[in-house]
Amino acid sequence: MTTKQAPSTLQKMGLDSPMALALHLPSRYEDETELFTIEEALNQGRFSSAQTQGVVIRNQVLFRPRRQMLVTIEDDTATLQLRFLNFYPSQQKQMAVGAHIRVRGEVREGFQGPEMVHPTVKAVAADAPLPMSLTPVYPASAGVSQTVIRKAVAQALRDPSLRDSLAEFLPKKLMTELLPSNDWPSLQAAITYLHQPPADADTQALLERTDPAWRRVQFEELLAQQISLKRAHAIRRERHAPSFTKPSKEQSLEAGLLKALPFQLTGAQGRVWSEISKDLENSFPMNRLLQGDVGSGKTVVAALAAARVMDHGYQAAVMAPTEILAEQHYLKMKEWFEPLGVSIAWLSGSLKAKEKRLAQEMIESGQAQLIIGTHALIQESVSFSKLGLAVIDEQHRFGVRQRLEIQQRLGSELFYCHQLMMSATPIPRTLAMTYYADLDVSVIDELPPGRKPITTKVVKATRRDEVIGGLQSWLSKGLQAYWVCPLIEESEALQLQTAVESFEQLTQALPDFKVGLVHGRLKAEEKAAVMAAFKANEIQLLVATTVIEVGVDVPNAALMVIEHAERFGYAQIHQLRGRVGRGSADSVCILMYAEPLSMAAKERLQTLREVSDGFVIAERDLSLRGPGELLGAKQSGDAMLRFVDLQRDAWLIELAQQAAERLLADHTDLVERHLERWLGSRAEFLKA
Ligand code: ADP
Ligand code: MG
Repeated sequence: MTTKQAPSTLQKMGLDSPMALALHLPSRYEDETELFTIEEALNQGRFSSAQTQGVVIRNQVLFRPRRQMLVTIEDDTATLQLRFLNFYPSQQKQMAVGAHIRVRGEVREGFQGPEMVHPTVKAVAADAPLPMSLTPVYPASAGVSQTVIRKAVAQALRDPSLRDSLAEFLPKKLMTELLPSNDWPSLQAAITYLHQPPADADTQALLERTDPAWRRVQFEELLAQQISLKRAHAIRRERHAPSFTKPSKEQSLEAGLLKALPFQLTGAQGRVWSEISKDLENSFPMNRLLQGDVGSGKTVVAALAAARVMDHGYQAAVMAPTEILAEQHYLKMKEWFEPLGVSIAWLSGSLKAKEKRLAQEMIESGQAQLIIGTHALIQESVSFSKLGLAVIDEQHRFGVRQRLEIQQRLGSELFYCHQLMMSATPIPRTLAMTYYADLDVSVIDELPPGRKPITTKVVKATRRDEVIGGLQSWLSKGLQAYWVCPLIEESEALQLQTAVESFEQLTQALPDFKVGLVHGRLKAEEKAAVMAAFKANEIQLLVATTVIEVGVDVPNAALMVIEHAERFGYAQIHQLRGRVGRGSADSVCILMYAEPLSMAAKERLQTLREVSDGFVIAERDLSLRGPGELLGAKQSGDAMLRFVDLQRDAWLIELAQQAAERLLADHTDLVERHLERWLGSRAEFLKA
């Protein structure tokens, strides 16, 4: 029966070929190579699993306190009790009195002395041979047993086709040059070893994935990624995009914008703008990331790029992952560009059908020169007349699939436009070298002048009244403030103070001031109205859920209180905090937390209090969450590097990079085979 079911469940896990099975590597191992007497097991097994065997001398099913089966086995040295809280009739039969069984598990102190709870059980003769290798435990999904996977893998490893699929094609000379101390096995040997490690294998190194066999596999995987990224880089350079040279005319939009700005570009802004400007002059598409901490002034740089493109009669699009962020861009761009006579279109999912159609017509006819909106911009129904530049803000917050869609839309065969990504989340070096290797990066590493550092305080929620008192004197000075709540209405289950409750409480406590409330459930125009009132200082205290996370810009608001700060991640708080510190007043961010604090939350709050450098925070974040989440890749369930951990294996990345360069230069024939072997259908994801 299992043989009939197994193929489909395995296939669902993507284990549909000998190669796929061979690369389905164990997550851990069980040691069944050693057998102890029961007496030894009673001592050995207290700290880790032990294997022992004996004859069943008693088998009882109890009904109190709950249904369970108690089995006692015996050998020449001692007896051992086994307890099963769930069991099948077949197990009752297997462990009938008189049967000889081999069991493996941890010994714990039970009510009636030492026992094993739910050991693994095999009915075998006393002299049945022990396995020669450690028993692999595979990543599995529901409905697939280890036995089924083990069988399938073992069979796959014997498949003659594997010899070809796992053939060695890293030139030996290259490897010894790159890694003189090379003690790595061949790929075939490494894979076999990882599935069936010998009894004396270094289990620590296997578990930590630092064994030479693991290194070999990790290197191969990184190599495939590096090759693929380098190829994408080369392919991009062969594509054609319009070249936007510097305008000579005084009356260009670019010159007009620079003249109209109420400030001078910072040195860093000037530098990144000249980098972007050079890219735009190229006749192949730009693929650049503009990185800069919150408040560093990325928007104006994007506006300059848009101006350049519009000066050449092309359209520019600015896209943001949330409506509120897109809207901020829209308002800012309107302020800058409308006086210069630019026609701007706004497009978001929440527009009424008629408004949407109107915007689409403007975009299609070319009447709209600058288009701003959400993900709605890349939907099928939108066709640009002459798109020259796409600016994608906070691009990592789009999901992988959305990013893929963006790439497919903007990078269609017919036409490639220049792309500028923007992010306040710095990309740690290891990520820049892997997932983002085909991105050119510009960094704004300087804040506009006059910014004051933000003082961050960590305060217990029990001191809420004190905080509100401080708020009162703050507002009395004519300054504004934010009050951030983590969740909205349906949060009762988590016993969080709701935004609405806080709003009501603060309205009462601060009768001399106008308190506003903004949250995700409001309609776009309601949100916009509240934000506008806050900006105009008609509202002094803005109670908000995390909808203000990005993009809000009110320099007079220099105090932020974050409730239940322990529930936020690093990046969220860093982004939120970036809303203050924009004006001339000293800025303060108060992180209020409720007890009890987990160790992780405690460390997070402490770090956030001490560190204001976004780069350091991003590194901490990465070590905590892994790159998938940072990249938004988690949603796809398709983490690209399966065996590599960017933190642990950072040193391998450089090695793979060098090897990839050499292979692409001297061994182009091997490159294809290597990519096929590792990426197969997943290659698409590299482009997102
Ligand atoms: P972010 O990089 O977080 O997107 P913004 O582009 O929103 O930052 O800029 C933050 C604020 O700083 C805005 O109010 C913007 O007008 C202002 N700003 C940008 N560049 C400068 C500058 N060179 N001098 C003074 N203020 C600036
Ligand atoms: Mg911004």
